[in-house]
Amino acid sequence: MGCNDVQRVIYFFLDDSLTESKKQDIGKHLNVCPECGQRMRISKRIRDFFRRRMQQIPAPERFKTRLSRSIRAIRVDF
Ligand SMILES: [Zn+2]
Repeated sequence: MGCNDVQRVIYFFLDDSLTESKKQDIGKHLNVCPECGQRMRISKRIRDFFRRRMQQIPAPERFKTRLSRSIRAIRVDF
C-alpha cells in the first residue's frame, strides 16, 4: 500500500468503515510513513472539529432551518 492509496481511503479509515485487513495495511503504512501519519492527524482534527460544531446545534434547530429553507425555496419556485 502506497501513500496515494492511504490518502484515498483516509476518511473511510477515520469513519472506521474499512475491513480489518485494510485497516491493518494502513496502520502498517502509517508506522513507516510519518508524512501520511501527519496527514491522518490533520484530517482527524478537521473532522472532529466539524463533528463538534454540528453537535453544538440541537437537531430540531437544524431541522427547522432546513425546513424553512425548503419552504422558502418552494415559494421562490411559485
Ligand atoms: Zn505514506
